[in-house]
Amino acid sequence: MSRQVNIGVIGVGHLGVHHASHLTKIKNANLIGIFDSDHQRSEEISKKLNTKNFESIDKLLDNVEALSIVTPTSTHRDVAERCIKKGKHVFIEKPVTSTVDDANHLIELAKKHGVIIQVGHIERFNPALLALSNLQIDPKYIEVHRMAPFMSRGTDVPVVLDLMIHDIDLILSFINSPVKEIYANGVSIMTNSVDIANARIKFENGAIANITSSRVAKDRVRKIKMFQQDLYVTIDFLAGISEVYKAMDASQNDPDAIMSAPLVGKDGRHRQIFYEKPTAKKTDALKAELKNYINAVLGKEKPMVDGFAGKQALDVAIRIHDKILEDLR
Ligand code: NAD
Repeated sequence: MSRQVNIGVIGVGHLGVHHASHLTKIKNANLIGIFDSDHQRSEEISKKLNTKNFESIDKLLDNVEALSIVTPTSTHRDVAERCIKKGKHVFIEKPVTSTVDDANHLIELAKKHGVIIQVGHIERFNPALLALSNLQIDPKYIEVHRMAPFMSRGTDVPVVLDLMIHDIDLILSFINSPVKEIYANGVSIMTNSVDIANARIKFENGAIANITSSRVAKDRVRKIKMFQQDLYVTIDFLAGISEVYKAMDASQNDPDAIMSAPLVGKDGRHRQIFYEKPTAKKTDALKAELKNYINAVLGKEKPMVDGFAGKQALDVAIRIHDKILEDLR
């Protein structure tokens, strides 16, 4: 039987409480305790989860080998630095930090101390995406929409760093090519910062991604559409549904084909369109993400999103945000 990882959670606000709660249920994790600068909040949560409420970060660090950092983004650098300098592994919620320099600093520090950085890009663990793991995804065009009703939480950063960064990370995981050009626009609606943004990213290999993100919407939407040769894939991350349309060689009247009019390919072969709705086991994405982290600390798996991947997503997000600010000037 493998050993358990002694772990603590720093920041038990809206999301951190779910981290702590999952960590009480993951087999190889041993939740030692929590720390939050709002001591009243952490006292309440510690009672609810039957775990220890530490009075200081240092006392928590003395008792664990790994941390989940779920504090506001502006604090990630300092909190993570403190943990890493004591030789502790860190899971840092997304975005990894507020600046690329801060992310580079943490990556270097983690290398020096031989510890893992994992970043909380949770959509990578969405069952609707995992259902597509057998598919060779190499999109030439991606269209993404992510909308959410307005909430004051998360507004310490612009919408690009709050919402769009989820899609940027996904896109960078699908398109294995450097970014060539970025066009972006955005507007402020509810805050002094950018609340609605649209970005068009062109990659060196010719692929294009068009992303729209808004935190001023009536309903929540999280949808991605991907197009490549002979393949069209849609993922609804909220509903947990993915759909695949494939153009394939087929017999004249294949009953499984959905397209009644037969297509003839460039080579003159008979083609038809087939539809699939792949399903994956329903799992909780946050729990799956934390299991990946625990297994990474145990040396059994690699983090799905390491510090470098978190930095790459942040870098593109900041470039998009800078373009928006340039356009607004
Ligand atoms: P929140 O404001 O609800 O909670 C943050 C908590 O951290 C609060 O309880 C606060 O008292 C505490 N805190 C602040 N500074 C601290 C410090 N220096 N040390 C210890 N505790 C401190 O925020 P939230 O919505 O839970 O977001 C936290 C992080 O999680 C942010 O980085 C956010 O971007 C990220 N997040 C990610 C997702 C996702 O989908 N992966 C969703 C929501 C939030």
